[in-house]
Amino acid sequence: MPSLLEVSGVSVAFGGSKALDDVALAAERGKITGLIGPNGAGKSTLFDVIGGLRRPLTGRVTLDGHDVTRSGPAHRAKLGLARTFQRLELFGRLTVRDNLLVAAELGAKRRGAAEFVDGIIDRVGLREVADVGADNLSTGMGRLVEVARAMATQPGLLLLDEPAAGQDPEETERFATLLRGLADDGAAVLLVEHDMELVMNVCDQVYVLDLGRIISSGPPAVIRRDEKVLAAYLGAA
Ligand code: ADP
Ligand code: MG
Repeated sequence: MPSLLEVSGVSVAFGGSKALDDVALAAERGKITGLIGPNGAGKSTLFDVIGGLRRPLTGRVTLDGHDVTRSGPAHRAKLGLARTFQRLELFGRLTVRDNLLVAAELGAKRRGAAEFVDGIIDRVGLREVADVGADNLSTGMGRLVEVARAMATQPGLLLLDEPAAGQDPEETERFATLLRGLADDGAAVLLVEHDMELVMNVCDQVYVLDLGRIISSGPPAVIRRDEKVLAAYLGAA
């Protein structure tokens, strides 16, 4: 069976410089796939290409066997894609519960949405903040709510851009358990994250992007010892 998400030969240029150069990557159902790399490597740009916010110069994106390279975000959402952004993007004036309800109703859940959302609130541990306005959350908690909101659409593929930024260690721990649970339910998770501990702990497979190119991929134990990867991070420091 092909992977849920397959990216091949993707290039993107801004002005004269290539932000992505012949990038290939796959994310499988039931697995957490990590995407790491120094600042400016092209991670968020690749998420925009996968999500349908940026059309690549070359290459192909397929979702569940459908070629979506030319389709917009709405069509991809219908095929089961959900994402979070590097900057927090919640509805600030809505409560946590209402943020999730909106997402659940955008997804397949019309009937029984309230009970469904309550289940997610418990699973993510958001009971105490369910009725709090999203604007009043700490950054770390906001991140958890953003992931919970993406979960509420029952995605097949979940793209997470630096979801653990601003989380305290306890929130990060909770978050790792949550990601594992999502994958165990059958979702494909693609995770961009700076917290290397988290990436190495939760990911099944890791891709390393540097200056727009994939320089290494493999299980965390292999990536940890890859000298090209170490050099890319040292070079960027
Ligand atoms: P990352 O998420 O890995 O930090 P980005 O994808 O944000 O990297 O950026 C990759 C490269 O593309 C960087 O050199 C960045 O400056 C450039 N870039 C990103 N978005 C734009 C844009 N909208 N216009 C021009 N250059 C951009
Ligand atoms: Mg980024």
